[in-house]
Amino acid sequence: MKSLLIGEYREGRLLDTTYELIGFAGQLGAESAMLLVGSDSQLPAFNGTIYLADAGVCGEYNPDLHKQLILEVVGKLNPDCIVFMHTSYGWDLAPRVAAALKCAQISEIVAITDNGFEVGCCNAKMRRTVRSATGRTVLTIQAGAFPVAGREGTPCVEQLTTAVTSTLEFVGYEPAEAKDVDLAKADVIVTAGRGVGKKENVPVIQALAKALGGELGASRPVVDAGWVDHSHQVGTTGQTVSPKLYIACGVSGAIQHLAGMKKSDFIVAINKDKDAPIGEVADLLVVADVMQFVPALTAKLQ
Ligand SMILES: Cc1cc2nc3c(=O)[nH]c(=O)nc-3n(C[C@H](O)[C@H](O)[C@H](O)COP(=O)(O)OP(=O)(O)OC[C@H]3O[C@@H](n4cnc5c(N)ncnc54)[C@H](O)[C@@H]3O)c2cc1C
Repeated sequence: MKSLLIGEYREGRLLDTTYELIGFAGQLGAESAMLLVGSDSQLPAFNGTIYLADAGVCGEYNPDLHKQLILEVVGKLNPDCIVFMHTSYGWDLAPRVAAALKCAQISEIVAITDNGFEVGCCNAKMRRTVRSATGRTVLTIQAGAFPVAGREGTPCVEQLTTAVTSTLEFVGYEPAEAKDVDLAKADVIVTAGRGVGKKENVPVIQALAKALGGELGASRPVVDAGWVDHSHQVGTTGQTVSPKLYIACGVSGAIQHLAGMKKSDFIVAINKDKDAPIGEVADLLVVADVMQFVPALTAKLQ
């Protein structure tokens, strides 16, 4: 099996998720090449060929040009699959490539099985297995779902250009509006999950965060319910954090949440279910009712 991995580069830097693509290809047992629109000063460690186009010429993102570059490399390599991260870059570009190649696309893969690929469904509460019915397939993989490959190897670089012109021009990035909290800088984060029960209970979690000199985090349902502002959300559609201490209170540990916090140095989970998936990443799992345990812990700390 041959795969073409589409690396990511943003604001002059190679994105670390590129190593998750390499990890995915390793699990798939695929022989891989990579395409990157970036710079030769920011290449990943990789054992294989990197087709490199200059982001200064093609833009860090331009759907017309990036699609054309991918199609040119697909023509040369004839890969079985073309693999993107399921990011704003991947989810915009992958369907364009799949449509141009008239092949199937499988999006947001979280695992590889003997029969195909697992993707989330029912708001990520369940998974289904899907298999491509076309010889070639475009894939997007969920951030955090696959192991990060070791940073080893020196790529063989082939420069790429395209004669195609575009009606679009990459202009730049606009910083997001200032948030009331910057979780990325916090050493301690105490997160409220749906298990806290109701909005009126959130101050109990906030009190523990304050006692530890940390910030309040939240899972998505807590934000969607309007209990906590979105600026506190941790996960794929919130912030990615890596504090020294992360305390998850009543959080089940869905993959979209784990993707945002599993690099924390020390993870404590408080959950009444001893089999909650958060236990798989937690250094310490406290099996307890969050509304009994957290106030007692806060009182001790105070
Ligand atoms: C495209 C997409 C993007 C997403 N992005 C994100 C994201 O950025 N961040 C995110 O968090 N989610 C995200 N999600 C949602 C994610 O799939 C989960 O639904 C969500 O993380 C679940 O939140 P939760 O753990 O708080 O709630 P639940 O899954 O409902 O878990 C609640 C947990 O609390 C425990 N519990 C209940 N009562 C108590 C109690 N009294 N004491 C102790 N424990 C208790 C339960 O045992 C359970 O484990 C996304 C989903 C999709 C499809």
